[in-house]
Amino acid sequence: MQLRSAQVYYLPDHRDAAENYALAADLALPFVKEWFGQPREKVQLLELADRDAAPFESGSIVLTPLGKSDSALARLNAVHQLTHAAFYSPRPWIYEGVAHFMQAAYKEQDNGRQAALDFMGLHRTAVADAETSYMQHLIEAQARRDLEWFFDDWVYRDRGLPDFRVQSAYPRPIVGGGFVVAITVENLGSAGAEVPVTLRMEGGEVTKRVQVRANSTGTVRIEAPSAPQEVIVNDGSVPESNTSNNRFTIQK
Ligand SMILES: [Zn+2]
Repeated sequence: MQLRSAQVYYLPDHRDAAENYALAADLALPFVKEWFGQPREKVQLLELADRDAAPFESGSIVLTPLGKSDSALARLNAVHQLTHAAFYSPRPWIYEGVAHFMQAAYKEQDNGRQAALDFMGLHRTAVADAETSYMQHLIEAQARRDLEWFFDDWVYRDRGLPDFRVQSAYPRPIVGGGFVVAITVENLGSAGAEVPVTLRMEGGEVTKRVQVRANSTGTVRIEAPSAPQEVIVNDGSVPESNTSNNRFTIQK
């Protein structure tokens, strides 16, 4: 069977179901075209003989049993495959993320905003399981830093928020004038983060970043050409449970 946007390979007695899918793909096509233009290729569906088999996809090809799915569901599935056929990214979370986003957007058009939110809620866990650890490794490869703690605290386990305070700040005069200030930041919360630390001094300020894991401390050294006065941890860019303890006055 060959229609405008999908090619379906089906078992001899499943012609109706195959036609339903092909029609669903044609009906969903204008929506996908509006976003990404004409798909570069046809969507291909290969029917699996085992009715209980889990669907499997590779790009715009999907292998799935052809049951009696209703038209709305068939169109929703077709949106996913058509998006793959029209939009490619070598980054799996973008490639899959865009296809899922398009399904949510289609659902919103069909059934309203709440339906779209419900759809995303259904997929959130599966998507996080399947794709986030891969994303973590890609980001690590780029950043060449161990970010496992970050994903653990913020993505996988949702440990709440950090709570930073400046535990100590010790200025030490250096040869030729000025100071080096050793600043220790404590994180009282159970999620770690990299946080900016600002040292204010006579006539200016310097900001550096320090990584502070959950329930531990991190130290940063900042040079000050003039007398250091105050340390402020977190400029508001890192979500935090308590910001009333973020300032520290340096004693003369
Ligand atoms: Zn996909």
